[in-house]
Amino acid sequence: MVCSEGMTCSIFLQVQSLQYCDILGAGMTGKICELCTTAGGTVLWASPTCRVVLVDDPSYPGFCRVVWTAHVREMSDLEPAQRQSLMNVVFAVETVVRSLFTPDKMNLASLGNLTPHLHWHVIPRWHDDRHFPEPIWGSVQRDAPRPHPAVSADTLRQALGKQLHPDEHQG
Ligand SMILES: [Zn+2]
Repeated sequence: MVCSEGMTCSIFLQVQSLQYCDILGAGMTGKICELCTTAGGTVLWASPTCRVVLVDDPSYPGFCRVVWTAHVREMSDLEPAQRQSLMNVVFAVETVVRSLFTPDKMNLASLGNLTPHLHWHVIPRWHDDRHFPEPIWGSVQRDAPRPHPAVSADTLRQALGKQLHPDEHQG
């Protein structure tokens, strides 16, 4: 950053940026973290350490995310017990989504390139969905997939509630 104040201005901006990061978990980029400031979807289940949200994507009904509550960047930043508790939730979501949506395949993904706040995508896939066999972030393969099972957020919430209990995940 170049300005008439030279170094003073630069240092001031850095300090401002750090304060911003502390509040919003934005890291050194100064960018507001979407998963620190919003739920990231319709909350289906939550514990003190993580939450399960339903993603609003008409092409992918049942697409859920498991989001770690704290602004943590990588899986290896968690303690082993925390990693295990997070993955227990991911597997529980996979089990529930498989049961309710009967997809041809489940995709689990943790990328975070755009939002480096630890989260897992749990995505039901069908052979004729918009991107199959590409990842859902890949190139579109077809435009009009057949309708997939319609399951309400309430039904998902209830099924997850039976599969998970908040007290089990105090990572
Ligand atoms: Zn964050």
